[in-house]
Amino acid sequence: MDNKTEDPHNAENNIFTTIAQGDVSEFKNILAQHKGSVDFLDENGMTALQHAAYKGCKDMVQLLLDRGADVNCGNHEYNYTALHFGALSGNSEVCKLLLEAGAKPSATNSVGRTAAQMAAFVGNHHTVATINNFIPRSEITYYSTPQGQQAEAYISPLLVEPLHKFVLGVNIHPVRLALNLQHASGLLDNAEKVSKVLEMLCKKEMTRGSETNEVMAFKYHYLSYVIRELNNIRDKQKPPVESDKKHDIVEIFAKKLLKPGKDGYSLDLMDAFLKDCVREFPYRECTTFHQMVTSLTSKDPPPALSLINCTINGQRGFIDTISYCSTCGEEKPAKKCSKCKTVQYCDRECQRLHWFVHKKACNRESSVPAATNNSKANIDTSELSAELQNLVAG
Ligand SMILES: [Zn+2]
Ligand SMILES: [Zn+2]
Repeated sequence: MDNKTEDPHNAENNIFTTIAQGDVSEFKNILAQHKGSVDFLDENGMTALQHAAYKGCKDMVQLLLDRGADVNCGNHEYNYTALHFGALSGNSEVCKLLLEAGAKPSATNSVGRTAAQMAAFVGNHHTVATINNFIPRSEITYYSTPQGQQAEAYISPLLVEPLHKFVLGVNIHPVRLALNLQHASGLLDNAEKVSKVLEMLCKKEMTRGSETNEVMAFKYHYLSYVIRELNNIRDKQKPPVESDKKHDIVEIFAKKLLKPGKDGYSLDLMDAFLKDCVREFPYRECTTFHQMVTSLTSKDPPPALSLINCTINGQRGFIDTISYCSTCGEEKPAKKCSKCKTVQYCDRECQRLHWFVHKKACNRESSVPAATNNSKANIDTSELSAELQNLVAG
């Protein structure tokens, strides 16, 4: 073989090797030198994009997509797509990139399983929810340009990005949604417009004929309901109080929802708030609504939060090996209460919002002498169930 035919083959092999090694900067260099299509296959019929997805490497996936890699290309013997590989890797961000680039979530492998089903099979629940909750950005962009006779669009184009991100969120705990809204620029300031767009999206999902998606419709309704509640809290505050008013709305909301009931741990107000939301869903004839109401009115109803989580993110058992933020239900939070080390939070903000509940338990916990090495054995059972109540048990 002369060099002319050997070089491109070597270059392709180099690309596969670098992906396997996970060296992003080297990969960037090699890719820059490679001319032509990046949709070449290895001996197993896999593309570079499929390898990068399987590796769960967001940067490499992005680089390949920027080079025009075809997300639905490949000739894997079991018909795995790049999205199947991303789902197996458990990297939800990789799956989002692939979906945004046009990966088909309905594509099945040779045993008839979709990417979401494969993710569920290997226990990547967050990825399952990410794929099932995905909507293309164009769904939102539609409302940012004037339609027909409209003089003005429903929302400014500047809100498309933050609203899309908000809709794709997998953690549906109302306090997390409130925090996400507070951090997203412009959404809360345009609460009325945003909630109207969410209601239109809800209606759209219910009127797609055979493609009707009741679950997404309910999610839109739910998100709209939370935004309207935050807007109501703000309206009541007018004229705005002088202190840190940006924090106040979310804090008032969180304090209302996280306040324990008479028994000291049930989140009665949260439950009532969420039940009202289900009750206000406008499509009362649909199966999803009937199932939710049947469950909530049963003899031993689940907390409304876990029911809504199951409905939107799919059924799954309670995973007791995972820890959750006591404030917002986020999985695997990074911080612990430094005093008692028995509760976990995403960050100081979550800890601050929960302190009005936790302070009593915390003082009791940390006053037990010499218990730090064995603190688990010292948790009083009512306290433990209080903690469990705070979690998204879905
Ligand atoms: Zn949190
Ligand atoms: Zn504590």
